[in-house]
Amino acid sequence: MTTGSQIDPRAAPAETMAAMVLRQVGAPLVWEERPLPRPGPGEIRVRIEACAVCRTDLHVVDGELRGGMLPIVPGHEIVGRVEALGPGVSGPDVTDLDIGTRVGIPWLGHTCGHCPYCAEGHENLCDAPQFTGFTRDGGFATHVVADAAYAFPLDGFDDPVAAAPLLCAGLIGWRALKMAGDGQRIGLYGFGAAAHLLAQVLRWQGREVHAFTRPGDSGAQALALRLGATWAGASDDPPPAPLDAAILFAPVGELVPLALKSVRKGGRVVCGGIHMSDIPAFPYRILWEERQIRSVANLTRRDALEFLAIAPKAGVRAETTTYPLREANAALDDLRCGRFQGAAVLVP
Ligand SMILES: [Zn+2]
Ligand SMILES: [Zn+2]
Repeated sequence: MTTGSQIDPRAAPAETMAAMVLRQVGAPLVWEERPLPRPGPGEIRVRIEACAVCRTDLHVVDGELRGGMLPIVPGHEIVGRVEALGPGVSGPDVTDLDIGTRVGIPWLGHTCGHCPYCAEGHENLCDAPQFTGFTRDGGFATHVVADAAYAFPLDGFDDPVAAAPLLCAGLIGWRALKMAGDGQRIGLYGFGAAAHLLAQVLRWQGREVHAFTRPGDSGAQALALRLGATWAGASDDPPPAPLDAAILFAPVGELVPLALKSVRKGGRVVCGGIHMSDIPAFPYRILWEERQIRSVANLTRRDALEFLAIAPKAGVRAETTTYPLREANAALDDLRCGRFQGAAVLVP
């Protein structure tokens, strides 16, 4: 229990922090040194060990999402150690957090707690949320201040680089899977960071994975097969048998009608991204027979706690490519061009 501010006496006496900052949409991130921030009431300061790069960061940098803050430090798949506690960091929501605790900080950075959505347990749809790396500074940095109630202890994870992609790619994948239902034969469209983690969960659950990639992306198809996929092919290929559900991680609207054609009667198509290019018109008959399309928005803390408990049991391992923090622009570019498998992770 902590009532006043606490600072780790073992921490290096750093008075400044560094961050890669988006000052202007569409421009490269810029290295900045700043005074070390003090956590406010209910907040913690975390010394960052790793931060994965998500496609949403690309949408933020490229200006495809509205309502963000500028300047902003992107990054919302943060793993680090608690270094300072603000006043009042205690209570039922923030057990297990102490100086030195390894924590994960996701996209959902804060919710209001009293809007109709929060009141119904749909905090992912909160009317007045804060998002890490979008409306509050995120993890492309050496340090970050976070709301303690939205930081998760990562006791079971000893490799911060491997854990970082779980904080969004893993969590959003998990929420998308819950929306997809209990079917046996699941299609994953776009086999990047999220899909390669979710495929491991699906195999652990004994379900079939069908991986759809960009035509000719033999690297992603090989990764899918290595992770136990039953089938891997191009996104415009029909699956060998109708799917029970399909989850779209690629931000490509053309995939929605393709996925609808691949699911059985009553099947579901779940769009996992925060942004997607326009969905082309399609004939009603491919939606008919009670097929469904739905999107997934953000995450709840419950999703996070569920997934972070399952991931070690399922032996989920992230494939990562690491970049020094200063090379965040190169990591974003490589993600945009699909130059690596799995997930990119920045290390300060
Ligand atoms: Zn709310
Ligand atoms: Zn993300």
